[in-house]
Amino acid sequence: MGGSLTQVLQLIGGGFTQSETDDWLPVTNPATGEVIASVPMATPAEVEAAVAAAPPGVEGGGRGPQAAAAFESWRREPAPRRARLMLAYQHLLKEHLDELTELVALDTGKVRADARGDVWRGVEVVEHAAGICTLLEGETLENVASGVDCYSFRQPLGVCLGITPFNFPAMIPLWMFPMAIACGDTMVLKPSEQAPLTPTRLAELFVEAGAPEGVLQLVHGGADQTNALLSHPQIQAVSFVGSTAVGRHVHQSATANGKRAQCMMGAKNHMVVMPDADEGQVVTNLVGAGVGAAGQRCMAISVAVLVGESRRLIPSLTRALERTRPGRRDDEGAAFGPIISPGARERIVGLIAQGVEEGARCEVDGRQATVPGCEGGNWLGPTLFTGVTSEMTIYREEIFGPVLLVMEVDTLDEALALINANPNGNGTSIFCASGAAARRFTHEVAVGQVGVNVPIPVPLPFFNFTGWRGSFLGDLHPYGKQGVQFYTETKTVTARWDEEETDGPNVTIQLDSE
Ligand code: NAD
Repeated sequence: MGGSLTQVLQLIGGGFTQSETDDWLPVTNPATGEVIASVPMATPAEVEAAVAAAPPGVEGGGRGPQAAAAFESWRREPAPRRARLMLAYQHLLKEHLDELTELVALDTGKVRADARGDVWRGVEVVEHAAGICTLLEGETLENVASGVDCYSFRQPLGVCLGITPFNFPAMIPLWMFPMAIACGDTMVLKPSEQAPLTPTRLAELFVEAGAPEGVLQLVHGGADQTNALLSHPQIQAVSFVGSTAVGRHVHQSATANGKRAQCMMGAKNHMVVMPDADEGQVVTNLVGAGVGAAGQRCMAISVAVLVGESRRLIPSLTRALERTRPGRRDDEGAAFGPIISPGARERIVGLIAQGVEEGARCEVDGRQATVPGCEGGNWLGPTLFTGVTSEMTIYREEIFGPVLLVMEVDTLDEALALINANPNGNGTSIFCASGAAARRFTHEVAVGQVGVNVPIPVPLPFFNFTGWRGSFLGDLHPYGKQGVQFYTETKTVTARWDEEETDGPNVTIQLDSE
């Protein structure tokens, strides 16, 4: 494959090069079905060359510095200089905001305003990484024993691996490599093969911002390339975002190979509506959080849990969803774009059919949606189910489409029990006027990211992205302070600079602190 099509480049060693593979996948615009580029499935030699130095003459060898070699000098780069790289990068990303927005829209089909948000939330992580000097500070205590001081500092791990999904091709790569590289690590990024244009441009801009050769490597591919990287002995830590099935495999494989891992996975997010919530606010937010980005967000609201009298909202929610429509990226009246692929669309259509078969009421059915002039696109309209129970497949599975389920309960206790029994724990929210209900909910819900009158509570980067339970595997979450801990190791120094002479060996474990 290839011909006159744009062939997506890789960043291996110091430069952007075309893969030597025979295995290329088409990259399609999901709004039209048009093939816009082709993406390589990197060869084993290219995967190897991205991570570790192969000598000249060996296949894939002799290129510029690879991630492992680059680490040896990058880890010694003073932290303020690493911070300055992030400042330069942040500046360039802002200069290229419109261009990156367009690429995200092309990669995913997102409408422009939403595509811009994808880039901007990534820019915010780069800003956070620019504060790395303060973030990396260790601790110190003088005189832990007579003449003995103790202090700690954080040191980088080595080569890290980032594996990213299709649905946030700007934000999620930017969760990873700026944080890792600001910490003094190097990173091999393997973005989704379904949306490779944006991550490739992000890498180009990073090099333009002054990133030294080899500090960031970009390898394209799918399962085979991910698996080869996961078993590579030089990779120290793996950050993964994607589906639960793949995340479990990645975590198992990374940890079995002795690597640190954080895996951010699938979700089923509930929004609880209390009877005293503002009706207009609830309906607007449910529509935006339920079907925005065609429901292809790990923090999308999939289930509206209507408590008591708030069931009165169903007719206005139905009307609002009937008025909401998908469309192409430049259509300002469109609320969201297409589904990423025909296969993903078919899967969602199948789940909707199963919902009907299992007895849920399909109040709004988006299966027939079309967008004039975009007949080849993977379109689905908003879909609303009421009468949903927790045994139904549409409740148990992550749908990842513009499908909102409504469940009705009598009390906040029942809402909490429902949410806490769901295996996922990525995000949730409550809409209410009562501070007491909000406080109870935030304290008792077993979900890691909670919104109060905020439907999609994705934390800003000075906090952490704290999905729980089935939505997360690992100990340390992305960005914030935990992101820094994830990409570094703590070293603790106990130092004696004593003017007094010691008489003979000290055979105890004790310092002079008793
Ligand atoms: P995916 O799991 O299909 O792909 C993610 C990455 O894994 C891609 O880079 C892909 O190439 C690679 N991959 C796919 N199959 C693999 C295999 N068998 N072995 C090894 N690697 C493999 O996910 P997706 O469809 O791109 O993204 C959507 C999913 O991501 C949803 O489930 C969504 O909830 C989740 N997600 C989670 C978060 C979060 O923070 N929790 C954020 C965004 C998306």
